Amino acid sequence: METQILQADAKSVEIAAALLGAGHLVALPTETVYGLAADACNEIAVAKIFDVKQRPEFNPLIAHVTGPEAARELVEMTPLAKELMAAFWPGALTLVLQRKENCPVAKLASAGLSTLAIRAPKGETARAVLQKLGRPFVAPSANPSGRLSPTKACHVADLLAGKIPLILDDGSCRIGVESTIIRADGERPILLRAGGLSVEDIEAITGPLIDGTATKSDKDVPHAPGALASHYAPQAPLRLNAISAQPDEGLLGFGDIEGDMNLSPKGDLTEAAANLFSCLHEMDQRFAKIAVARIPEVHLGRAINDRLTRAAHKD
Ligand code: AMP
Ligand code: MG
Repeated sequence: METQILQADAKSVEIAAALLGAGHLVALPTETVYGLAADACNEIAVAKIFDVKQRPEFNPLIAHVTGPEAARELVEMTPLAKELMAAFWPGALTLVLQRKENCPVAKLASAGLSTLAIRAPKGETARAVLQKLGRPFVAPSANPSGRLSPTKACHVADLLAGKIPLILDDGSCRIGVESTIIRADGERPILLRAGGLSVEDIEAITGPLIDGTATKSDKDVPHAPGALASHYAPQAPLRLNAISAQPDEGLLGFGDIEGDMNLSPKGDLTEAAANLFSCLHEMDQRFAKIAVARIPEVHLGRAINDRLTRAAHKD
């Protein structure tokens, strides 16, 4: 694939929005770092991000929105969230909130969590693309997993040339580090990641933050009753590498192993990743036990297997 690098202006912003709307990935500047953007409501486009970034597991992504009005469509607002948005949006603050029942953002973007991370970026280019697109985009840093986050278009080109159709160039990112992430679905704010907005600035508005940066799982976060939800794992026991279903099982197929549902009949791993969480949810509702066909341990198959293995062992 040939990668075009265009100076950010009205015309290139329009091209970027059109590419995103058609399910392609675009690298673009925000005030924090360069992001690798995909239409947040398109499961396949979101799956492409994990493929291009070569992530060995699905971690949740941040949905970028124009402001509180747009956020309201996606997540359950809390008094704390409203306060933080009023004080710091647009800006380098990401809020983690409960997804609305009918939240249109791809389940894969939440990596199976009941929550969604959202942020209104301040960078002009990012805002212009959001406005043209008319819906949110997800945008993790535009680097392969394990490499430094890019703060210039040339960094992105070094890392991702040939893998995406377009990089929008708008010089250096003003802040240069990722956003601060606060969990705000409870009464007290929980710091999940330190970043571009200082803890002191946030605490001046909210009072002391609970430090959630070192916690591996919800169980470890103290004093936040009911505030946290864990990774989605089906109620039904999961059996992996199945060829056929036992009498009491439903079969989640892949490729030639047809099944009651199929992650991707044509054996496409990007499609399988895009379908993973919604298929698991539906299978869980329909069957007491779930058998899953073998997923090849390559490309996105590694992230799919990571999640399936953990669901099978109920982490
Ligand atoms: P970035 O590469 O800047 O987009 O980083 C995204 C990070 O946001 C992830 O690695 C998570 O640590 C965090 N994150 C996103 N969504 C959630 C969520 N629903 N709950 C907790 N953390 C989240
Ligand atoms: Mg990153």
